[in-house]
Amino acid sequence: MPRLISRAFAVGCVTLLAACATTRKAAVENTSKTFTTVVVDAGHGGKDTGAYRRSGPPEKMATLDVADRLDRKLRESQLKTVMTRSSDVFIPLDERVAIENSQKNAIFVSIHFNDSRRRGIHGFETYYHSPDANELANRIQAKLMTIPNSANRGVHTANFRVLRLATYPAVLVECGFLSNRHDGNEARSTEYRELLADRIAEAIVEQRYGPGVYHASAEAAVQPQPPSEGPGLAPATLRHD
Ligand SMILES: [Zn+2]
Repeated sequence: MPRLISRAFAVGCVTLLAACATTRKAAVENTSKTFTTVVVDAGHGGKDTGAYRRSGPPEKMATLDVADRLDRKLRESQLKTVMTRSSDVFIPLDERVAIENSQKNAIFVSIHFNDSRRRGIHGFETYYHSPDANELANRIQAKLMTIPNSANRGVHTANFRVLRLATYPAVLVECGFLSNRHDGNEARSTEYRELLADRIAEAIVEQRYGPGVYHASAEAAVQPQPPSEGPGLAPATLRHD
């Protein structure tokens, strides 16, 4: 009997701990106005190509390029950045979450491109989970909509793992549909990917410091990257202090 009681007690404790853990995961520290670090997440990578169309590079390459440009622009705006990957490697979602949650005073921005069987569907979407990330998500979507000929597919909540398990405000940006002729063509253009990064960076800087602070670096847009600084040579996790 005592054995049974202790077992019941143990089960109860485990249940309680699990409940605690769940509560802890769900609690978001609202750093949406005070953050000093931006975790930049290039979606997919390595064996996980993401959306793929014969006519252009796979999603994993487009996300890495936009993330890389975003990272540079944020550092130019005096924000610290951490990239979850900076080369074509596979990073499990839980590892991305761990990188994200191990920072101090951070926000998380995940870059993706979209895919649909319906070729006609195009435009931008931004997702968030915690209400603390709502403002940032709306700001990013609004800045993307200043790009000429862009289509607004809205800001939505989603249960994506990298958003749900984040202990900081986290958003996921879908930068257009690779399955759509217009969006796909744009995603193949270096200038356009620079524009995407620029608008997302502007939204993030505005979220932190208010309007008028962000200055796009025209130099960064036209200067070719020296090969020694190519993303393929950097470690999987880059910490920029
Ligand atoms: Zn994706």
